[in-house]
This record gives sequence, C-alpha cells and structure tokens, in this order.
Amino acid sequence: MNEPRLGPAVAPGAAAPGEPSSVRWLAVERCPACDDPNGVPQGLIPESAYAFGAELVPFPEGGIAVARCSACGLAYKTRLPQPAYLSAVFEKYAPDKWRGRQDLADEAAALKGLAAGGELDLLDVGAADGALLEACARLGTAGRRSALDVMRYPGAEAQLRGEFISGFLDSPMLEWSGRPYAVVAVYDVLEHLYRPRQAFQNLRALVRPGGLVLIETGNAESDWPRRFGLHHWWYVRLFEHHVFWCLRALERIAARHGFEIVLWEEARHKSRRHASFVGIGEKLLKAGLYRLVPDSYADIARWFGKRGNQPWHPFAKDHFRACLRRTSPHGDAVVET
Ligand SMILES: [Zn+2]
Repeated sequence: MNEPRLGPAVAPGAAAPGEPSSVRWLAVERCPACDDPNGVPQGLIPESAYAFGAELVPFPEGGIAVARCSACGLAYKTRLPQPAYLSAVFEKYAPDKWRGRQDLADEAAALKGLAAGGELDLLDVGAADGALLEACARLGTAGRRSALDVMRYPGAEAQLRGEFISGFLDSPMLEWSGRPYAVVAVYDVLEHLYRPRQAFQNLRALVRPGGLVLIETGNAESDWPRRFGLHHWWYVRLFEHHVFWCLRALERIAARHGFEIVLWEEARHKSRRHASFVGIGEKLLKAGLYRLVPDSYADIARWFGKRGNQPWHPFAKDHFRACLRRTSPHGDAVVET
C-alpha cells in the first residue's frame, strides 16, 4: 500500500518545556483518500490559530487551506498537525472535552435491528466514554461489545464484553483478536483520519464478509459548506478534523476496499438531533448573524468574549450516515496502486 503522501514537516516549532510538545505541521500534497495530486484550492481557513482546551495553536506561516480532490471529491486540509502533537493535546484535554455522555438509545435501537438471531456482534470505533456500548448493553443483546480507541476510558471499560483494541483506526499495525465483527460502528471518526486508505484496509479486516460498517461524519456537500465555502464550515475549523467526505469520495474508497454502500442519507449530527429548545433561539440568532456577515462573525463573537468561528445551525443537516457492506468473501481483493 502507498504511504499517505504527507510531505515533510514544515515550520517546526521550538521545543516548549511543559507543553504537550511543540507543533509541527505536515504538508498534505495529494488526496489522502485516492492519492490524486490535483487538489482544487477552496480557500484559507480564516482564523490564525486553533483553540483546543486551553491551548491556542498558531497556524503555520501561509495559513491552512482546504483543497478538494478533483478525482474523488474528498475535501482535505493542506496542513495538519503532526500526529504526536495532536495525541498529546488530546490526552491532556479529551477527558474534559467529552465528559457529559450523550444519549445514544436511538442509535443502539437501530443497531439492535441489525442483530442476527438476537446477537449483536459489535465493535465501536472511537468508543470514547462507552455511551454507545452502554446503550447497547441496556438493550440486552447477546454478542460481543468491543471497543477501539486510543485511550481507555473507565466508562467504556465497564461496558466491554469483548476486546479493547488500542490504537487509531488508521494505525498501520492493530493488535486484536483477528475474529472479524458483524457490525463496526464508525461514528464521528472518519473526519479525524490521517490515512484513510489504511483505515479502510483495517475496516476490511475488522468486518466479516457480509458484515456492515455504520458511518456518521460531516457532509462536505451539505448546504452550509456549499453556501459559505468549505473553508468557512465550522466543522472544518476544528483542530482535530482533517478530511471531509461526500458520497462520491466514500463510494470510491469503499469500492476499492471491497465494500458497497447500502444506505446513505443526510443527517443532523447525532449530538444535535435531540437538541433541547433551551438556547435554540440564541443559536438561531447567531446563525442569522453569520448569514449576514460570514467573514466578520469571528470578530463579532470576540467582541462578546467568545472564541467563535461559525455557529452551528440547530437545524442544519451537515452530516451523513452511511452503511457499507463488505462484499467479497476473501481478504485479497484490495488493490492499492
Ligand atoms: Zn481523492
């Protein structure tokens, strides 16, 4: 398999004692999903730094642009923080950032419908605090409830009935049982990938023939990025998001790795589907403001003491859900050129 075409690190930062590490930037010169060299520039992300926890990570010189692959349609950032730096920052802040468990009862109920003979053989990729595993546990299905994540959260640990696979979905070497799963949930994961092709190779191994991969991620062709430009989309402006999918990009990488799309639908992000009406007026107001002045929204937000970029619209469907089925019965159909 080709290695991802991440170029040499640029603008190496000075070592800063006491910090997670100093940020270095990787130049992304080809499409991370299909290796095509012809990315079409979409614009520069308007900020000059990312905010994550208490960290303010200054952008590299020249800023961070978003490009769109002319072959497969994947949108990607042209500069990414070095993985070691991102991991260190995550380790420092993630337990706080993801505290406050989501209610995933609806997702679990949908998964139960996929259980064969009452058995749901599930791997949750990016299990975080185990909310999905717990919701599945409450349904009382038989079968494995396993997790893949970089960190072991106590919440997920308590819900395991299977294995914990330590690593990233796009890690070149994953240590696991080798017993593939009937269902692999990949919610809010695909946007974090440095190496999408490696991730799909791993998925192919993790899913049994005829098994399913359930995906939820941002939709680069949804209304908001279309209207304001990909580089203005709130979802692109997050430090930890690297690549942005659409139906075409997903279809192409799925087909190359022996999967077919059996379902694809636009969706609101799952954390927002059940958004309380408390505060929704304020969000609509912000959204209205953003429509009027997209370029100066961040400045206006700063006036109000907020580190805003683009507000999310409470009714925006800027994600998609997809279900892939592993088609070919043998593990030898992956042809990477
Ligand atoms: Zn591509």
